[in-house]
Amino acid sequence: MTTDDKSASKMVDTQDHCLVLLIDDDPMVAEALRLMVEGEDDLRMHYCSDASTALDVAEQLKPTVILLDMVMPDIDGLTLLRYLRVSEATKSVPVVALSMKDDAKLKADIFSAGGNDYLIKLPESIELLARIRYHSQCYIRLLQRDEAFRALDISQRKLAASNIKLQQLASMDGLTGIPNRRTFQETIDTEWERATRDADPLSLIMMDIDFFKKCNDHYGHQHGDEVLRRVAKALSGCLKRPADMVARYGGEEFAVLLPSTDLEGAANVGEQLRSAVEGLKLENAKSEVCDWVTISLGVASCIPMPGEIETEQLIKRADEALYEAKEHGRNRVIKASESVEGNSASS
Ligand code: GH3
Ligand code: MG
Ligand code: MG
Repeated sequence: MTTDDKSASKMVDTQDHCLVLLIDDDPMVAEALRLMVEGEDDLRMHYCSDASTALDVAEQLKPTVILLDMVMPDIDGLTLLRYLRVSEATKSVPVVALSMKDDAKLKADIFSAGGNDYLIKLPESIELLARIRYHSQCYIRLLQRDEAFRALDISQRKLAASNIKLQQLASMDGLTGIPNRRTFQETIDTEWERATRDADPLSLIMMDIDFFKKCNDHYGHQHGDEVLRRVAKALSGCLKRPADMVARYGGEEFAVLLPSTDLEGAANVGEQLRSAVEGLKLENAKSEVCDWVTISLGVASCIPMPGEIETEQLIKRADEALYEAKEHGRNRVIKASESVEGNSASS
């Protein structure tokens, strides 16, 4: 090889090293090819003279290119090529066929069996090196691209998982694990629209724990937190329909939204909620109405009319009924009577 040849053949050289697997039964050919690649720093050649073990060797070695003799005693090159194309470890490794003859039919067979190139023995060393480097670099780029896609896929999955987690954190109340006020507001807006479309009643129950400050003061804030968790769980347990939702509205206040439910139905649910909380028998020794933790509830209902969104009015009416429940002795359910924006759904 001349100096010019060498510098030309190095032009495709990159930092990635080529690992060549030569499969040829003829040691003379192997030696000649070995001498051609000798001294090339970016290139290492492994020789396998036994075609019957070549597939195993290729799977273990993970070469970047395979030079494959077409005529061998045990298995012919074409058959071995087909095995290489089936094996998971070698199916994409470039294969350069080595043949003594320039045979069009053999070339066609090789390319249709998945071969990538064809060299007549013995090639010029510059040609051999150029093809080894070209095919190796293509293969290395392919592996790098696959690896990049794999890494991208993993990070996309992680991102999707943390987005779901983030969404949960943003929509749920951290203490009780039930939806927070933000989710409640989104849900009531959606349900309002749906109820308007379907001329369907929508009911809301606002509730508040009675004498909760005394509970905190007497048993401690941590105990108060536990009471909030237990109450939230009891309220959730009372709701039967998939569209019903309970949310922590703030402090010791909760809201229950009941789509397709009229005032009477909602008042019944309210009574179940009241009774469920009382039934927990969570001590509240300083309560002025009961030995246990209790809640007061205000229920409002309407059939929303097309036009302005008036969820605030429904919330206000339920809140006013809740205030009345407090005024009238607590631990009770009070229904709001007047209508809001749309028709009162008291039937
Ligand atoms: P009422 O029967 O009139 O509702 O009286 P109340 O004592 O329940 O009402 P008030 O508004 O006076 O007190 C509410 C208390 O709820 C005070 C506040 O510290 C407590 N609270 C609000 N949020 C939390 C919380 O996350 N954890 C605990 N432990 N207490 C809370
Ligand atoms: Mg309270
Ligand atoms: Mg309160």
